[in-house]
Order: sequence, then C-alpha cells, then structure tokens
Amino acid sequence: MNPVCLQCEKPIVGRIDKKFCDAWCRNTYNNKIKRENERYILLANHFIRKNRGILKLLCPIGKAVVRRDVFESMGYNFRYFTNVWRSKGAVYYMCYEYGFSPIKEGNKQKALIIQKQDYMEDYTYNPWSFKQ
Ligand SMILES: [Zn+2]
Repeated sequence: MNPVCLQCEKPIVGRIDKKFCDAWCRNTYNNKIKRENERYILLANHFIRKNRGILKLLCPIGKAVVRRDVFESMGYNFRYFTNVWRSKGAVYYMCYEYGFSPIKEGNKQKALIIQKQDYMEDYTYNPWSFKQ
C-alpha cells in the first residue's frame, strides 16, 4: 500500500519515507500539532492567573481565612496551581506569589491564604517524600 500524506491523505509519490506531499502540507500539519499542544498550556495559564487574581482580591496583604464556598462562588479552580509549598504539616497550593492551605474545622472547609515570603525561596520540594 502506498503511503498517504498525513495532512491531506492523498497518496504520496516519490521517496518511500516521505510523510507529506509537499512543504505546505508539512507546515499545516506541524502547525496544527503545535496549536493543540499550546491549547492546554493556555488553558492552564488562564486558570492559574484567574486563581491568583482571586487570592489577591481575598487577601491583598498579610494572611486571610476564607470559606471554601467563597472561593467557589468566585470561580476558583482547585486543580490548577504553579507549585506546592509545605510548612509545619500544612500544604500550600501556590498560584505564583499567592497561595492557600486547606483547613478543616469540623464539617466547615476553609482556606488560609498567604503571600510568598522571601524565605520560601530556599524551600526545596521533594515529591517522593509527600504524604497526604
Ligand atoms: Zn498533502
């Protein structure tokens, strides 16, 4: 069976190892792949930026404790964060220089919001030592 172009699916003439019929098909195909790869990055960046904005709004300076439903009503997406910081048994989910740590008080779910401090730069995170 003759190979077909990955872009237009027409039979390829010429060398057996060719994947595309011409440069236009090759570029179109490669650009499509690149766009699909970029899509997830753009989506993740969108949520992380939005989360950061919410954290900043709820905690412009210092620290703040906020109920989980306040986060949710503002459209916070808990799946997305830039990095994890652990301190004194608490886990902080950071979005750039803002972050929060989940708090459970009975059946109430809250979050302690913090801002990045200089000493946090020295922190090295080891995913293999992480325990829930
Ligand atoms: Zn083609």
